[in-house]
Amino acid sequence: AGCGGGSSSSTTSAAGGDTTSAAAGGFEAGATIGISLPQKTSQNWVEAEQMFNEGLKAAGYNPVVQFANNGASEQQSQIESMIQQGAKVIVIGAVDGSQLSTQVENAQSQGVKVIAYDRLIKETKAVDLYVAYDNEKVGELQGQALLEGLAARKGSGPYNIELIAGSNDDANSKPFFEGAMSVLQPKIDDGTLKILSGQTTQDKVATEGWDPAKVQTRMDAIISGFYKSEPLDGILSPNDTLGRAAIQSATDAGLDTPVVTGQDSEDESVTSVAEGKQYQTIYKDTRGLVDAVLKQIELAKDGKAFESNGSANNGTIDVPADYLTPVSVTQANILQAYANDATRLKLAEASCT
Ligand code: BGC
Repeated sequence: AGCGGGSSSSTTSAAGGDTTSAAAGGFEAGATIGISLPQKTSQNWVEAEQMFNEGLKAAGYNPVVQFANNGASEQQSQIESMIQQGAKVIVIGAVDGSQLSTQVENAQSQGVKVIAYDRLIKETKAVDLYVAYDNEKVGELQGQALLEGLAARKGSGPYNIELIAGSNDDANSKPFFEGAMSVLQPKIDDGTLKILSGQTTQDKVATEGWDPAKVQTRMDAIISGFYKSEPLDGILSPNDTLGRAAIQSATDAGLDTPVVTGQDSEDESVTSVAEGKQYQTIYKDTRGLVDAVLKQIELAKDGKAFESNGSANNGTIDVPADYLTPVSVTQANILQAYANDATRLKLAEASCT
């Protein structure tokens, strides 16, 4: 089947939704806004850096946008330094969501608003807002796509699959994995899905640092151990970078390309999905996420409360959340899914067969 329109749901954030937190005093136009990003483990983070810089400058702010390439402790000191520089809002994509309570509590005690961006900050009351795509939903969509792809490519089961999870320090890895397993577990239990390696828990299948080399090593070992004479039909991957590494491993071993899921709509994966190689990706348009944050910063500047359309329990409090809706993308709906994203649409069109 070639590329098609299919259906896609639109992205809506809370702008105009319920008000939940109490309004505090605003701040001046031109204020410093800190944006603390994790490592560049996927294309979305690199896009966010540029969009935050451009968007904040265009709105008249003084952006300080930094990556914590060396991990959690570097991120801790970057956030401390943003507080010292007088940032009025600090937006954080956490390397390790459980390692920032001291820093965000310090920020909050000085009247700085803290927004958790894409990844929740855990075990602290000092988070004012969480802005993210619904990550549990991302996992569910991946689980559903895997089942759909297996049926489409192989007919009826049983199917042999393997599982991959993200980095354990990333707060998103759990909702991704649990969302997917909520769909897959019943099919494992009834024998439709078989995992020959026996590696089925999040801990066993986690990928430290979201490192694709680690996935390739692990899949190489699994393939040579269990799939010499058995087909490997599908692989649950939490994102595109790791999904492409899994496909590479299968290709290197001379296997047919399994049904592989992904996330982020990275350039290489958009091409791969359009070609019919990677089965699925998720579209979490970074423009939507950054725009949602920029709108919330405007509210804070005007002394208004943040707006939310849900909440996320971080182990200490229910953090008000501004959720956006992720879109599942396969060859069947790829042109529709990227209809409003000229770059991705062009890539898809160039590779549609
Ligand atoms: C993000 C994903 C991304 C992953 C690795 C997660 O926290 O939600 O979009 O693929 O980090 O960078």
